[in-house]
Amino acid sequence: MPETEPTDRPGRDGSRSGGGGGDGAGRSAGGGSGGADEDAGHREAHGGALGPRLNWLRAAVLGANDGVVSTAGLVMGVAGATTSESALLTAGLAGMLAGSLSMAVGEYVSVSSQRDSERAALRQEQRELAEDPVAELAELAGFYRAKGLPEPLAREVAVRLTEHDPLAAHAEVELKIDPEELTSAWQAAWASFVSFTVGALCPLLAVLLLPSSVRAPATAATVLCALLVTGLLSARLGGAPPRRAVLRNVLGGGLAMAVTYALGVGLDAAGV
Ligand SMILES: [Zn+2]
Repeated sequence: MPETEPTDRPGRDGSRSGGGGGDGAGRSAGGGSGGADEDAGHREAHGGALGPRLNWLRAAVLGANDGVVSTAGLVMGVAGATTSESALLTAGLAGMLAGSLSMAVGEYVSVSSQRDSERAALRQEQRELAEDPVAELAELAGFYRAKGLPEPLAREVAVRLTEHDPLAAHAEVELKIDPEELTSAWQAAWASFVSFTVGALCPLLAVLLLPSSVRAPATAATVLCALLVTGLLSARLGGAPPRRAVLRNVLGGGLAMAVTYALGVGLDAAGV
């Protein structure tokens, strides 16, 4: 469907710059594969722009949600035990940093290993293509037959795709990856760090700025509102019915705060 290219392309470029620059930054940080620009139109034809962008957005919302819940649990626990603002600040900041760093490291490690295995699979595919192009062509045609194309057409498609870009053709149907779209681990790590921090700031600022007389209930209320928003956003982005998702998210976060607050109060009462 090459006719769709010209109309799609500006949309993608626009959304890229509008999407917080993360995409672009990640690409250059990841050392981007050379022919990215020349091949942008080709990628476009696969309609690969929207899916990954939504996934990133969803991951960011979930990261923020994690930041809200874990930091809220932490500061509510401390608030249950003490009214000391320096204790709240220390615990809240340390918790926020520990959480965002651990999310970033975890994401970096997981995306890196996924990338390594994708790269290894691509190298293997490249070797096979070099060693036995005839068998690889038959294999590719077989995939299109299995998808329902009649033999002559499957063969024709395989031949044309192989003429165009054999590795990309095999990567798409065999490995289900786009050689141009390998995820950047740094980008993923940075996105996790930022989204967790943004989420964590909500309970942290609430607990520090609200007067101590209403601190616990008002912080809890602020956090529940934030969880309502993140729950709604992630349900929307994931295409799930929002009511239940929001309810689960708010109840889960409320439970986490109740448990840690009770722990703080209990420890304080026990004289710890
Ligand atoms: Zn192959």
